[in-house]
Amino acid sequence: MIGKALQQYATDLGLTVSEKCAYGVFNGFLVTMYDTVSKKTVFVNYYLDDSQESAVRKFNLSESIKKSIDEYQIEDYQVEDNGVTVIIKDSIVKLSEYLPILIDSLTEVGMTGISVCSECGSEITGEAKKAAVSLKRYGLCNSCALELIQKMNKLESDAVAEDENSKKPHGFLAALICFLVGSAAWIVTYALEVFGDGNNIILAFLLSFIFPIITIKLYDMMHGSKGKKKIATVCVSMFLMIVVGMYFGSFFEYLNSNGASFKLMLDPINWSLPFESAETSLFSIPIVKEALVSVLAGAISILLFISNLFKSKNVSSKIELD
Ligand SMILES: [Zn+2]
Repeated sequence: MIGKALQQYATDLGLTVSEKCAYGVFNGFLVTMYDTVSKKTVFVNYYLDDSQESAVRKFNLSESIKKSIDEYQIEDYQVEDNGVTVIIKDSIVKLSEYLPILIDSLTEVGMTGISVCSECGSEITGEAKKAAVSLKRYGLCNSCALELIQKMNKLESDAVAEDENSKKPHGFLAALICFLVGSAAWIVTYALEVFGDGNNIILAFLLSFIFPIITIKLYDMMHGSKGKKKIATVCVSMFLMIVVGMYFGSFFEYLNSNGASFKLMLDPINWSLPFESAETSLFSIPIVKEALVSVLAGAISILLFISNLFKSKNVSSKIELD
């Protein structure tokens, strides 16, 4: 957001150069400069009260900027109660020529710069506190800076509290719902596999690909916590889905190969059958194949759709004190 030329110019003026802008005191005024696409923006902070004189000052400043529009390629400007923003097209040369002129007009119309607080107008002894709103810097006295910090903290904690109240996290419930629906779909797939025409590998692949996406969507809709917790929840629900599917698949396989009736499944005494017969090749090859494909598809899907979740964590507050 700040190019080489602007960086150099700001350094020459003795301003502080940060990643996104340059700011500091120039000829008695707190100045902020930054680049936007092929444009240079300069903001000069000042103090105005609500008086009639202030309105006249604003008007006079506006008039004097108007006169410079053509000569200094001013694309846009905005005179506000606590500062003026001027956008200059392209060249740093025009900006460097215009900045001293702008500061002169501020002084001429009777604006007060960094010697007073731009919020309350009281005289600043020592160095002014610099508050950044978006990028623009505002010079504040100690008590206004303190007030601002308190306000910021309050806003932040209010926002957090509101967030917590309005968005009760039900991420676990979302994962549970998806697990139940997914497991049912899996059981049907394996039942079709065993009792049907024998090969549902594509269906298994699609299911394992789609379910993490559905789980992630539902998890977000139900305000589940972000970050690692989300990844873990989606992975675990996917894994359990496949395990449940395999369990039932093995059961169906057993019933089918032994000509046993479905009633066998209803008696808890038989529920360990899929584990007991694991050695005797009960996990028949098609089911194992499908389970592997499922794990693979699930992993691809999770990787594809969860990668952007690492990014969006905390958004920092817009107002900062330098
Ligand atoms: Zn103040």
